[in-house]
Amino acid sequence: MKREPVKDLRSFLLQLEERGELIRIRKKVSLKYELAGLEKRLDGAPAVLFENIDGSSMAVVSGLCGSRERVGLALNTSFESIHERYAQAHLGAKPQLTKDGPVLEKIGNVKLSDLPIPLHFEKDAGPYITSSIIFARNPKSNYQNGSVHRLRVLDNKRLVVRAVEGRHLDNCIQTAKNTGTELDVAIAIGVHPAILMAAAYQAPLGTDEMQIAGGLMGGPLSIVKCPGSNLVVPSHAEMVLLGTLDPEQLEEEYMTEMLATYDYKRLQPVITVRKILQRKHPIFHDILAASREHRFIMSVPVESKILAGVRNTVPSVEEVRLTEGGCSWLVAVIKMKKKYDGEPKNAILSALTAHPSLKIVYVVDHDIDISDPNAIEFALATRFQADDRLVVIQGAKGSSLDPSSNQAKRTTSKIGIDATAPMSIPWDRFETAKIPGVDQIILKNYLPKEAKGLFQ
Ligand code: MN
Repeated sequence: MKREPVKDLRSFLLQLEERGELIRIRKKVSLKYELAGLEKRLDGAPAVLFENIDGSSMAVVSGLCGSRERVGLALNTSFESIHERYAQAHLGAKPQLTKDGPVLEKIGNVKLSDLPIPLHFEKDAGPYITSSIIFARNPKSNYQNGSVHRLRVLDNKRLVVRAVEGRHLDNCIQTAKNTGTELDVAIAIGVHPAILMAAAYQAPLGTDEMQIAGGLMGGPLSIVKCPGSNLVVPSHAEMVLLGTLDPEQLEEEYMTEMLATYDYKRLQPVITVRKILQRKHPIFHDILAASREHRFIMSVPVESKILAGVRNTVPSVEEVRLTEGGCSWLVAVIKMKKKYDGEPKNAILSALTAHPSLKIVYVVDHDIDISDPNAIEFALATRFQADDRLVVIQGAKGSSLDPSSNQAKRTTSKIGIDATAPMSIPWDRFETAKIPGVDQIILKNYLPKEAKGLFQ
């Protein structure tokens, strides 16, 4: 039987390089703003491998999932089928426990200043690890969770973790707090993007994210037990930090968020790291906040969640997109071929329920290209009437990231806009006019020589 090749960060980088979608930067780069500045300038371009980092022997990669096409590549599917992949992911193969793995090639003590941890934005609290998956077990149920959390570096041994309240890591932390114990954690950095996207998926509590990763990758994920710990991690991770989280020890943290605005200051729990497991010549993965990579890794799993929720109520929904202008988090567009005039409003309500951070939902007809902001505005301009197709919900719980929301009460107003054509007016009134044969015209056969270069 043919063995499936291992999928890890390195195999993904090879795939990118073969496609001409990896740039290697050999010039020495500083971790203080310069690396982040280059990431910003190259956002949306090919992925970047920084081979020469000032102050660290490790290389840094960034921008792995900088386009929807590369998200599709990571999930082994075309980008149009990403959400079908997520719908099936929970049925993926269980992770396979192996005795050995490349991540165990080197085991040693940690000095965080040896790692290439960048200082990204002007007003961030300090250098941050941004691609980190934190694995922890709930002390009562023993269920192991894996989720993505940013980590602020305090000194050579200590990190502050942004553990979003109510999510699964927080659930483990609160259980540890109530039982008066500390929490063992394993922090994986540098994994195949499908593992990151599984960890970013807000699966129900108790679902094993590593099984979802197997579902997304199309084969079981290989895992190993961490020495001296009951946690398991992907066996091909570039590095894993082992440590303990003290729910009672809190430090301040704040950094740039998905919206490219600064998050507000909070006190969050401290992790003390003891050991580092690493491959030979490990590659560190940095995700620039609010970059396309950040937004796709966060938003594509959420789009899947919204699509599943809305389809449950309105099966005719064709596509859901979190828009880039809405920071891939606050604004959704739903495309559907409605059968009844009331369906778009049901779709609006189910989308708002499926993704509580959602603030604005547009529903458009099947002929609108939802990847084009002008097409969405066209639907709004030509098919929308505010007096009966606008839904306003006041005082709902929204995203804490949105600076215009009520920051004290954590409430926000939400709107739904049904920009589908009303069924009482014949469809041909809304049709976009076409010129027969327009696509068959070969321009270069008509244009003078000097104009040919202008039109393809
Ligand atoms: Mn979970």
